[in-house]
Amino acid sequence: MKLDLKATRAAAAKIKFRTKAFIDGKFVKAQSGRTYDSINPATGRVLASIAACDEADVDKAVAAARRSFEKGVWAKRPPSERKRVLLQFADLIEKHLDELALLDCLDAGKPITDCLTMDLPDTVHCFRWHAEAVDKEYERVAPTGPDNVALIVREPLGVVGAILPWNFPIQMAAWKLGPMLATGNSVVVKPARQTSLSVLRLAELAMEAGLPEGVLNVVTGDGSRIGAALCRHMDVDAVAFTGSTEVGRQLLSYSAESNLKRIVLELGGKNPQVVLEDAPDLDYVAIQACNSVFWNMGENCSSGSRLIVHRKLKERLLAKMIEVSREWIVGDPLDPKTRIGPMIERSHMEKVLGYIESGRKEGARVVIGGKRTLERTGGFFVEPTIFDDVRPTMTIAREEIFGPVLSVFTFDTEAQAITLANDTPYGLTASVYTRNVNTAHRVARALRAGTVSVNCFSEGDITTPFGGFKQSGFFGRDKSIFAHHQYTELKTVWMQLVQGT
Ligand code: NAP
Ligand code: MG
Repeated sequence: MKLDLKATRAAAAKIKFRTKAFIDGKFVKAQSGRTYDSINPATGRVLASIAACDEADVDKAVAAARRSFEKGVWAKRPPSERKRVLLQFADLIEKHLDELALLDCLDAGKPITDCLTMDLPDTVHCFRWHAEAVDKEYERVAPTGPDNVALIVREPLGVVGAILPWNFPIQMAAWKLGPMLATGNSVVVKPARQTSLSVLRLAELAMEAGLPEGVLNVVTGDGSRIGAALCRHMDVDAVAFTGSTEVGRQLLSYSAESNLKRIVLELGGKNPQVVLEDAPDLDYVAIQACNSVFWNMGENCSSGSRLIVHRKLKERLLAKMIEVSREWIVGDPLDPKTRIGPMIERSHMEKVLGYIESGRKEGARVVIGGKRTLERTGGFFVEPTIFDDVRPTMTIAREEIFGPVLSVFTFDTEAQAITLANDTPYGLTASVYTRNVNTAHRVARALRAGTVSVNCFSEGDITTPFGGFKQSGFFGRDKSIFAHHQYTELKTVWMQLVQGT
């Protein structure tokens, strides 16, 4: 696809949407026949009518997953064959990269350039990486005495659910499905209500790659109904979730009330970016800091929404960031020049604008942005916004906004910076900027977060685990080989060597 607005619009107009649930290898209507509308957040108009599944559809999907698991068509396949299928799957995603990128762009309002250069390449790489790991992990023999042999092996859990957010629709599917499928589980996915289209297409490509029927199922619809049904299901062994801390908390109680299924939670964040007095070149820091908070419209759990900067650097850094913010062009997500698309839906835009209003009311000062924009398009756009003079007790300093809104704080000593940075119930990511390697190491270890980046904004890559401390997460991690552990059971096979037989 050529990278200009005319070409992306033409390609988008040609896309055929998959709108039914995907159960046991087939697209099927919801048993009730009901549908709901998925909206294009850049226009406010209906994009597609999607199957509105209910508990009966969840039961059907779980039964299909269970059958495939019991038959062993995937779980018992030799690892090298599972690897081959998953590599083929990754190749097919790459082959359909433009189409899948456009689906996320239309459905979630994500800038097409981000979809093409980040979300989709990351998705392909994620599946390839987990595929390659399948036949390279060895199991263990315990150091027993001479009369015994004890094998310590890992086995797939069985039927695993994945409940996904709307902010990185295909990429979050990959972060969950890569390790779930690599370890031999059968899966039921529940994409976010707003963004099911790319995940439905993904399921179809998985079948084309040779994944057996029933191993990957997708149910679409309302999370409070079918997400909850999945979590309460007596025949589901685990659910992995990315989304709000509030819903994550509910999932733990669903598990407690049902079969004590394993729950893996990736939740919100209110992530600090700490700029110490000896930070590197401030032009560079300004670019990184803006990227951290404005990337993906700030609809990002790892968004660096709190800038904690040394008092002596604040004015200079802020002036540079205001300049850099102007390069964050808000516009049609199909336009390759756009860096900030719309908020996911009207109610979310209103929530973000409500936070901006509360910041003003509580006495913080808007230095750039602060308003809805491009209203005539019908889309839900918000300007990139920076607040100065923020106090740590203000609502905008404490709650996850999930929009392009930055709060700026100052400090005088390293100890104050660390206290401010850790003053949050969350602990997902953090950044620290300094020229001194000793300081970098000391501060990185003092920050209570699952990923700390030094002199950049980063979530690491596929080789590094991703997840949160404190109320940002619960049990397990996405990405890396560590993600395989949470989708497997550890089994001991203890053998007595009987003499004389
Ligand atoms: P959410 O309500 O937590 O939704 C995440 C997923 O959970 C969706 O698939 C949702 O389905 C499903 N769900 C909702 N209620 C459920 C329930 N009772 N049981 C099981 N599953 C359920 O997040 P949201 O409404 O999309 O966004 C709200 C806030 O969450 C955001 O403003 C942001 O602060 C945070 N968030 C964080 C992340 C992250 O990456 N950590 C991602 C997205 C949102 P439906 O789509 O059908 O409701
Ligand atoms: Mg949508």
